[in-house]
Amino acid sequence: MTSEQVDGFLEQVVSLGTVTGVCGEGGESFTNYGVLLHFLRRATKLGLSASALTNAAWVTSREEAENRVAELMEAGLTSLGISTDQWHQRYVPVDRVDTLLEVCEKSGLSAARMETQLEGVMFRGRAAARLAPGMPTRPAEEFTTCPHEKLDAPSRVHLDCYGRLHLCQGLTLRGETPSEAVAAYDPRRHPIASRLLDGGPHALGQYAAERGFEPAPEYVDACQLCYRAREFLRPHFPELLGPDEMYGP
Ligand code: SF4
Repeated sequence: MTSEQVDGFLEQVVSLGTVTGVCGEGGESFTNYGVLLHFLRRATKLGLSASALTNAAWVTSREEAENRVAELMEAGLTSLGISTDQWHQRYVPVDRVDTLLEVCEKSGLSAARMETQLEGVMFRGRAAARLAPGMPTRPAEEFTTCPHEKLDAPSRVHLDCYGRLHLCQGLTLRGETPSEAVAAYDPRRHPIASRLLDGGPHALGQYAAERGFEPAPEYVDACQLCYRAREFLRPHFPELLGPDEMYGP
């Protein structure tokens, strides 16, 4: 995402009149640090509370952490979520997370260690393919509600670098712009959300089965069934199920 895109998206977010806070997520939001700083400054100027998530991979020294935390706070950052778990720790040493948490505390920046345990994983996206094998499963008929998103009245949405709004990662709203998408959203007329509201991932799986999807008898959780059904339905609803990055291997 570029700084120009950030400006355009934030203006549309503000024009909705209902959004009070925004969060820079990833991937890893610090990969494009200049744009992240721009996002924080611009959001703050527009009266939005601005937070961010990071995995702390960039914390190569305490001095680096101190410099960046000061710069981020000056740009308007109000809180920082720091992801770490057994999967991150294969690539990002946990002492980087500890250092960043200490620096945030010393600087007066609200920060939280966000540690996902296996029992907290939602088996969608890469987790559906890579982490699900070998996990205990339950019958597909049991997954009759979406356990995590308020699809009838969303209290949060995700905005990707293409300007698409997501109800859940990979499940998007129709509309050329974020403000158009919000204005046009009718959960009962959205072909995917309406099925999820009526009978959860099981109903969505049945809907996909009418088009040739072959559901497995059991899944690890509701999200794995939902994700697999959506993956199958992508060619039927390319404007609602994407982008490719959300359905990668
Ligand atoms: S993957 Fe499906 S079931 Fe899971 S939170 Fe998202 S919309 Fe709900």
